[in-house]
Amino acid sequence: METMMRNAFLYLSKNRMANRTAKRYGLKFGAKRFVAGVQIADAIEAIRQLNAKGIVATLDHLGEFISTEQEAAEATHYCIRTLEAIAESGVNSHLSLKMTQLGLDISKELCMKHMRMILDTAKRQGQFVRIDMEDYAHNEVSLEIFETLRKEYGETVGLVIQAYLYKSGDDIAKLAEYKPNLRLVKGAYKESSQVAFPEKADVDRNFIAIIEQHLSNGCYAAVATHDDSIIHHVKKYVKEHNIPNSQFEFQMLYGIRTQAQQELANEGYSMRVYVPYGDDWYGYFMRRLAERPANVWFVLKSMFKS
Ligand SMILES: Cc1cc2nc3c(=O)[nH]c(=O)nc-3n(C[C@H](O)[C@H](O)[C@H](O)COP(=O)(O)OP(=O)(O)OC[C@H]3O[C@@H](n4cnc5c(N)ncnc54)[C@H](O)[C@@H]3O)c2cc1C
Repeated sequence: METMMRNAFLYLSKNRMANRTAKRYGLKFGAKRFVAGVQIADAIEAIRQLNAKGIVATLDHLGEFISTEQEAAEATHYCIRTLEAIAESGVNSHLSLKMTQLGLDISKELCMKHMRMILDTAKRQGQFVRIDMEDYAHNEVSLEIFETLRKEYGETVGLVIQAYLYKSGDDIAKLAEYKPNLRLVKGAYKESSQVAFPEKADVDRNFIAIIEQHLSNGCYAAVATHDDSIIHHVKKYVKEHNIPNSQFEFQMLYGIRTQAQQELANEGYSMRVYVPYGDDWYGYFMRRLAERPANVWFVLKSMFKS
């Protein structure tokens, strides 16, 4: 049943017509819990409230179904605008982005041109930009682009590695020479067993293995998970290996396990929340429902209340 619901929501997340309709009607069906707002001002206000509680952020301007150069240029403009809004408002936040929004499916060169425009702004303003990792089809090219940009922009840019991929340990070993700031996650896409562990227990085991590998390489790790057993393990591991709190942080998604977020911040850990905003909220919202069917009951309740 859970797998059926997960697949149904992942299918819905890819529906262009529903996406277009959703854009017209603003945040609906309880999406407000997971998306900070449609306008940049809403997102900045949400971050201000997080910062007041000792939690930092990474801001993501949502975008789906980019297929033309003009759409990719617009998405690039939004990323730059988001960096400027962060700088102008003085909130404590990074930027997260997806390279398919910047035209990666049109050409690698176009995407790199857009990435450089964004990173020029970020570098000038002393900011950090994280490249989210997308599905396996984009994995190798994302690593290639990251290596090139890391050489050009140094610590301004970071990447994500997904524990469900068999190759994640090798990728971390390959990237170690750059001492990169990596966000480590379990992985969110539907992948074949030829490239990814099909069993959750194996993903969890590999997640712990790559976190330890990256930390013991002396690199900065952003451990992005809502999973208490992983968080507990990381706390224990860093203590046993004298790894300072300044070498890692925890990350969670906006609106998910907010109490746990606050507790980690109160314990003195660096806690960063991924804050999505924009009118393209529909696909992101469907993926959050796919992750956790319990959220569906929350949505149904909110539909009847409004
Ligand atoms: C900040 C951040 C950035 C991410 N970036 C990427 C990326 O670039 N690429 C990518 O592929 N994936 C990304 N992900 C998603 C990630 O790969 C997982 O799909 C997602 O985090 C769920 O895995 P989990 O580690 O939380 O553990 P799970 O095993 O899914 O969940 C463990 C426990 O956490 C709680 N939980 C999990 N999800 C929810 C929820 N939606 N609502 C309430 N409780 C929940 C439940 O108690 C659950 O039992 C990101 C996740 C985060 C937090």
